[in-house]
Amino acid sequence: ALEVGRDLGRAVLNARALERERELVRELKALDDYKTTLIATLSHELKSPLAAMLANIELLDTIVDLDPEAHGVLAAVDRGAVRLVKVVEDLLLLAKIGDPRMPLLPRSVYLPDVVEDVVSLTSIPSQQRVKIETIGDVEDVLALGDPTELDILVTNLVTNAMKYSDESSEVTVALRREGADVVLECSDHGIGISEADQVHLFREFFRSEHRAVRTKPGTGLGLTIVERIVARHGGRIEVDSTLGEGSVFRVFLPAA
Ligand code: ADP
Repeated sequence: ALEVGRDLGRAVLNARALERERELVRELKALDDYKTTLIATLSHELKSPLAAMLANIELLDTIVDLDPEAHGVLAAVDRGAVRLVKVVEDLLLLAKIGDPRMPLLPRSVYLPDVVEDVVSLTSIPSQQRVKIETIGDVEDVLALGDPTELDILVTNLVTNAMKYSDESSEVTVALRREGADVVLECSDHGIGISEADQVHLFREFFRSEHRAVRTKPGTGLGLTIVERIVARHGGRIEVDSTLGEGSVFRVFLPAA
């Protein structure tokens, strides 16, 4: 009887612990939802006044004949506003892809077309820097995903590869099939990423302390967005990088 009583007591304690755990998960989930909604609302509210600010800066520059110093000050305000717009846009995007009410509607996407589109939208000298390599047949590089999100993913990876490497060095986007996945590999011969930094790459707002990074514009949200998109697609991402030599970002997406 003593043994049965002890087992019963243990079972009751376990059940209580499990219920507490469930409650904690529910609370965390509610907090996370609240955070997502708050960020989305805030970003949305910030967007219009920022757009108005940018328009007014431009207007001021045309209606007033500013001396060089004042022009410099206005240009700095303009750069700040442009940066803010980018942060707000990235935050809105993150909130959108993190919103459970916005499920992924996957379809068959021919990845070479996505990469071509992204490259053709970048400025002319940059286009020549990007080499696209497709290995295999059409069906080997068909991924199952959302074309808009995959476009954002490729844009962020290619932009980073170009931004963090010398203007004369080449960036390669290679596509191939590997088992049930389509692999998209974006390689550069740029500044590379230290092992210490590699741990934090996908964290919100992370930017390396490397001087070459600090002198370039950026929000530190690009790779967070990339990782969320990859996760939403049921894929995974790997990074191979050596400081001073270059980086390879390898994305595995489910094949269509
Ligand atoms: P950012 O807007 O700063 O480019 P990301 O989230 O896209 O933000 O990238 C985070 C950080 O990761 C960058 O600030 C940079 O330090 C590093 N990084 C990303 N891609 C590369 C790359 N191809 N080469 C070197 N460093 C990179």
